[in-house]
Amino acid sequence: MTLNRRVFLGAAGVVAAGLSAPMVLAQGKPRVVVVGGGAGGATAARYIAKDSKGEIDVTLIEPSRTYYTCFFSNLYLGGFQELSDIAHSYGTLAANYGINVVHDWATGVDRDAKTVSLAGGGSVPYDKLILSPGIDFVDGAVEGWDLSAQNIMPHAYKAGSQTELLKAQIMAMPEGGTFAMVAPPNPYRCPPGPYERVSMVAHVLKANNPTAKIIVADPKPKFSKMALFQEGWGNNYEGMVDWIGEDFGGGIVSVNPDAMTVTIDGEETKVDVCNVIPAMKAGRIAEMAGVTDGNWAPVNAADMSSKADPDVYVLGDASQQGDMPKSGFSANSQAKVCANAVRGALTGSKVFPAKFSNTCWSLIDTDDGVKVGATYEATPEKIAKVDGFISQTGEDADLRKATYEESLGWYAGITSDMFG
Ligand SMILES: Cc1cc2nc3c(=O)[nH]c(=O)nc-3n(C[C@H](O)[C@H](O)[C@H](O)COP(=O)(O)OP(=O)(O)OC[C@H]3O[C@@H](n4cnc5c(N)ncnc54)[C@H](O)[C@@H]3O)c2cc1C
Repeated sequence: MTLNRRVFLGAAGVVAAGLSAPMVLAQGKPRVVVVGGGAGGATAARYIAKDSKGEIDVTLIEPSRTYYTCFFSNLYLGGFQELSDIAHSYGTLAANYGINVVHDWATGVDRDAKTVSLAGGGSVPYDKLILSPGIDFVDGAVEGWDLSAQNIMPHAYKAGSQTELLKAQIMAMPEGGTFAMVAPPNPYRCPPGPYERVSMVAHVLKANNPTAKIIVADPKPKFSKMALFQEGWGNNYEGMVDWIGEDFGGGIVSVNPDAMTVTIDGEETKVDVCNVIPAMKAGRIAEMAGVTDGNWAPVNAADMSSKADPDVYVLGDASQQGDMPKSGFSANSQAKVCANAVRGALTGSKVFPAKFSNTCWSLIDTDDGVKVGATYEATPEKIAKVDGFISQTGEDADLRKATYEESLGWYAGITSDMFG
């Protein structure tokens, strides 16, 4: 009897090794910790919890109780959305998916001990760690501006109170006043974002303050969907938008928040609103975890695992992955690939080959939507673009309206994919 039982246990051990599911059998329920409950993190947490059906213990660490999407925050500035339309909570992830949602800041990662420390004290252990902290700003990127000036010259590149502040400032502009934007260098969150914002600011000013002006100081010679935006600004907001690119000194910029001035290539201008969008880098926790190289965190395209540590994964804007733009759509797409790979590594479930896609819609004026998008595959070097599409200049109004309506459907879809 004893001998038989020993033989049985021995055989089970051999089978277990062959199933590539050592964590379940060796340690009980495997633990995944996700830092950041945005487009990448919320999606990854939800897919791992949903598809593993309780086999994996999922903890999501996110300081905010309400997540305001940056996507459609420009439409809020333009009066096409209410702030409440872009607000989402984590209640469904906790109640319907069994995710342990911890509202706190992750303040450090001990990769040897495999723990994440929290601002509120204590630490959370993991077998696999997913970081999706979004972006932080590069110190000193715009002369005269630092985070202490964000309430005078808002970036509104993290949505919520910053977006509300920018909107209040736009609405309070004096008649014929000046709105200035300092645009960021590549690579940055949402390539068409600053230019959709210019369109939405022009839209409200045209209605409320038609003699107001918009100046854009840009360190880049060209930008995403440039021909489409420039056509739209000419058609809808003629004479209102002055885009000063690299060739005209748009990258040589300093600001003075106390005096409310912007100096572009030596020429100082007094402005009423100044939207400073500085150069970006991976959210600080990625650097603290030691998975960044320069400003971003390099990852393997097949599963979004960090090049520095196979048990740490980096999603979305913080990652350096190859050809995908830093967008919510990209982060959501990468999260599903990562969730599948993490579940496979922890439970032995089937892992499908990585496929990624992205579309970025932008609204130029009422019912005037444009888009750019692509599909991607994982290569040993990077996430590589396979093929793409872009709206054309001169499209008819029906097509532009249909493109805008498509973006409304996408917003409903991605937010329910993130938050359940
Ligand atoms: C104006 C604007 C318009 C945009 N429009 C679009 C669009 O139309 N379509 C599109 O696809 N994308 C758009 N984007 C881009 C999109 O918002 C981002 O690419 C996307 O949110 C990236 O997802 P993420 O998971 O990397 O980061 P986020 O969604 O920013 O999530 C990061 C989360 O991590 C949390 N966090 C950070 N540090 C810590 C820490 N230490 N501990 C715990 N939590 C932490 C933050 O609180 C945050 O909730 C837009 C962006 C902007 C600014």
